[in-house]
Amino acid sequence: MNESTRNADVLIIGGGLSGTMLAVQLLRLPGTRRILVIEPRAELGRGEAYSAVELGHTLNGNAARMSVDPDNADDLTQWLTDYIAGGGWPESDQQHVPISELFPPRGIFGLYAQQRLAQAKALSTSIVEHIRAEGVDLQVDAASTLLTLDNGEQVRGNFAVLATGMFPAARTPLTESSGLNAAALDPWDVQAMAQLDSQSTVLIIGSGLTMVDAVVSLEQAGHRGPIEIFSRHGLLPHVRRQPPSWDDFLAADHGLRSPRQLLREVRRQCRFAIDQGIDWQAPLDTVRVHIARLWSQASEREKRQFVRHVRPWWESHHHRSPPLSAQLVARLQGEGRLRIRAASFKGLVPSDEGVAIAVRHRGEPGLTRVSGAALINSSGIEYDWRRVARPLPQQLLKRGLIQPGPLALGIAADAAGAVLDAQGQASQRLFAMGPPLRGMWWESTAVTDVALQAKALATKLTQI
Ligand SMILES: Cc1cc2nc3c(=O)[nH]c(=O)nc-3n(C[C@H](O)[C@H](O)[C@H](O)COP(=O)(O)OP(=O)(O)OC[C@H]3O[C@@H](n4cnc5c(N)ncnc54)[C@H](O)[C@@H]3O)c2cc1C
Repeated sequence: MNESTRNADVLIIGGGLSGTMLAVQLLRLPGTRRILVIEPRAELGRGEAYSAVELGHTLNGNAARMSVDPDNADDLTQWLTDYIAGGGWPESDQQHVPISELFPPRGIFGLYAQQRLAQAKALSTSIVEHIRAEGVDLQVDAASTLLTLDNGEQVRGNFAVLATGMFPAARTPLTESSGLNAAALDPWDVQAMAQLDSQSTVLIIGSGLTMVDAVVSLEQAGHRGPIEIFSRHGLLPHVRRQPPSWDDFLAADHGLRSPRQLLREVRRQCRFAIDQGIDWQAPLDTVRVHIARLWSQASEREKRQFVRHVRPWWESHHHRSPPLSAQLVARLQGEGRLRIRAASFKGLVPSDEGVAIAVRHRGEPGLTRVSGAALINSSGIEYDWRRVARPLPQQLLKRGLIQPGPLALGIAADAAGAVLDAQGQASQRLFAMGPPLRGMWWESTAVTDVALQAKALATKLTQI
């Protein structure tokens, strides 16, 4: 070991929301420990989602649903109340709803996460240090972990936690690239979109929440031309409303297991709600707390069935659009400017001007060429670490320190987040949280998921 190697009790690799919330929870526990957060971005707490700078790129849930404190559901509402009272986010008063029902811009949410970290630091005897670098390799032995950084430095920790987050398809270099990202505009880059001819046609691949953000970005950039969206099923995210509470029907019936049984019962409950004039989102929202249990007890075959048959429906009904963004999409659709087609992207095709793509419309055998001035890749998140061309995932696979999770979604771990190596052995030193555990829990990415995992993992790390 190099003499200048820094040592810590816990190395947190990735300082987005997950890594930052883990640091907060460690700071809150009794005892004194040194925590190093390795994060190439200038600021902790923001990561991919909360580095957003546009006010229109908002959370997809209202403040009452987005607390980072598992012990206080009103934490964000309380913080936001003070923030707005202090002159922050003056535009919020145009929405005429209580603060708990506001959908904050994600950049402001990042500030909230940072302030919660600052508060926890001020009250703790433990120390959190941000090392601004990317972890590129990791070695693990029985007693410790050794992380190599992209500047050549090495840092050692009793434990290391992979809080490396999401790899959005639009921004992730892949081992086998179709060249799509090189030809496409970043969905969140308003400046680049402002360079387009405002009347030109823009093509978007994918119709989930990244697409919704991309449409907000185009609007902000002054784009007023046609937007053609292609996605396999042609489904748009539903808008998030504030449904009333509903009986937790899954808590009462643990016999419901297979995706088919579950879907049938959820549909029955939704119809029942609609018949009574109640929003179908009410019964659907009760399912959320059971997802991890249902997913982890499902067989491999049932998981595959769910992904093949239920996933598109789940994504569009569960991962809902913030109301203002949904209103924009609906308005553009109504004006005939935005069209959504059920069609699969089949590749880029040569074009003298702008971009051209080949798509296969659902139910049609042949390919269709579509052209436009620009293309945006909104095809979601790359969860398969074998395809992510970043040094750390590749090195961890090469060293046999990790193995792909169920259905190659993220990486495998035990129920406490201890990472499974290539032989299936749970590590005593290496842990993971948040999006890398997608395959273990299905929903492992949202604010509330990572907040809960951070608390449980912090406790675990201080008890080993
Ligand atoms: C655009 C977008 C919008 C979203 N909106 C919502 C929302 O409205 N509501 C909601 O509940 N959830 C939302 N999510 C889900 C979101 O992922 C989680 O809320 C949460 O931000 C996950 O945090 P994270 O820290 O795990 O991941 P990330 O935000 O992806 O952060 C991971 C961090 O790890 C760093 N990192 C990666 N590899 C390394 C390495 N090798 N070394 C050092 N650092 C590394 C990255 O630089 C990054 O900063 C959104 C996600 C995205 C991408």
